[in-house]
Amino acid sequence: MSRKPVIAGNWKMNKTVAEAKAFFNEFLSQIDVDDPEVVVCPTYTSIAAAVECTKGTNVGIGAQNIYFEDGGAYTGEVTADMIKEAGCEYVIIGHSERRQYFAETDEGVNKKTIKALEKGLVPIVCVGETLEEREDDNTFDVIKTQVEKAMKDVNEPKKVIIAYEPVWAIGTGKTATDEQANEVCEYIRKLLVEIFDKDIADCMRILYGGSVNAGNVKKLMSMSDIDGALVGGASLKADFVTLVNYKK
Ligand code: PEP
Repeated sequence: MSRKPVIAGNWKMNKTVAEAKAFFNEFLSQIDVDDPEVVVCPTYTSIAAAVECTKGTNVGIGAQNIYFEDGGAYTGEVTADMIKEAGCEYVIIGHSERRQYFAETDEGVNKKTIKALEKGLVPIVCVGETLEEREDDNTFDVIKTQVEKAMKDVNEPKKVIIAYEPVWAIGTGKTATDEQANEVCEYIRKLLVEIFDKDIADCMRILYGGSVNAGNVKKLMSMSDIDGALVGGASLKADFVTLVNYKK
């Protein structure tokens, strides 16, 4: 089963419009492959500029969050339609920073995933255990709950991308070993077989995220159940291109 690899950058709360344009100027001049699928997720304010800069390239743009309602009195929130209109094709859902700092719940993640699919967006659904949960041997239970709740009533699962991001590896410089990362991604695929079926699970892309950089990406990408990377810090500089071109 061949799954198209994905390298996705999450800029978090970084880069003004001017900085985003400068990034794409340098980054796009060095992109020369159409495999893997490349995604960049800037802040809302830089989405329009990012879409403009990447027009006609194989780089897709995503948002870092949406709200699950279609509109109304939800100060500060943004709908799926709004980011779609702005040119996004992807949206990150349930990033651990949203779960940790903005009280995002598994139920909310599920509603957002369903809304993203309904509006034709590719959801990149993040799951991952904390250091405490790993040390208490609860990694698989935590992942099971997060994946099962996120995928409840999802009717176009093949379009969903799951990102396994152990919280202890995000922005810490501490990467999971290739084996640790693959072990959980393999477990996620088993869960997807149980929730959907084998054909569907075999088509779904599962990314690893957590301090991925130019030095470790190639090995991670060679693992059987890792289909890509969700990259934070290392996606902020134009040499993110070295991760995109990991095969070279
Ligand atoms: C992330 O924010 O999704 C992430 C994986 O960050 P970093 O690569 O900086 O650990």
